[in-house]
Amino acid sequence: MMNKKAVVVFSGGQDSTTCLFWAMKHFDEVEVVTFNYNQRHALEIECAKNIAEEVNVKHHILDMALLNQLAPNALTRDDIEVKDGEDGGLPSTFVPGRNLLFLSFAGVLASQVGAKHIITGVCETDFSGYPDCRDAFVKSLNVTLNLSMDQDFVIHTPLMWLDKKETWALADELDALEFVREKTLTCYNGVIADGCGECPACELRRAGLDEYLASVEEEAKS
Ligand SMILES: [Zn+2]
Repeated sequence: MMNKKAVVVFSGGQDSTTCLFWAMKHFDEVEVVTFNYNQRHALEIECAKNIAEEVNVKHHILDMALLNQLAPNALTRDDIEVKDGEDGGLPSTFVPGRNLLFLSFAGVLASQVGAKHIITGVCETDFSGYPDCRDAFVKSLNVTLNLSMDQDFVIHTPLMWLDKKETWALADELDALEFVREKTLTCYNGVIADGCGECPACELRRAGLDEYLASVEEEAKS
């Protein structure tokens, strides 16, 4: 019989919360895992905790402080500015190997809790220069995890080919648009829901939402 249990890599942001709703629709049993690596905002962990509680899924929080020790960067340190990469370089929010580590630990957890499916919100479309968000990387790691643990995990990436507008559309399709809009934290300045409106994460989120809402309105008119 097919194993219908899933583990979602979960940060409490828009993307992973949309993935959580996607997982709850597709699998019988869902647990989420959040990695604590001394994020700029402890609020991120709080936010994730609250969401998990609200939708009633088991929440694992794993300590990954070593990531900050290895790679201090703009997501973990207040004294490093959040900015886009220059001349095609990586943005200051890049933590080398972050998804490699997160997905590997999610795999270890999945094997412990007996889950076959692992869901992650990584996305190649809004590719901001993170090599470990690419589809080829995820597929390669899927093979590696299976070989390393003698498992047949399936890593799902429901957002891989969606842009921000389509991610909002998916949330809406899952009847979770308001929930995602009001309860998630994407903002680099730690402002929940619609955010500070000024950081790159807020700009991306807002532009996608505006585009989606405009398309809904357009459709209603026609
Ligand atoms: Zn912001």
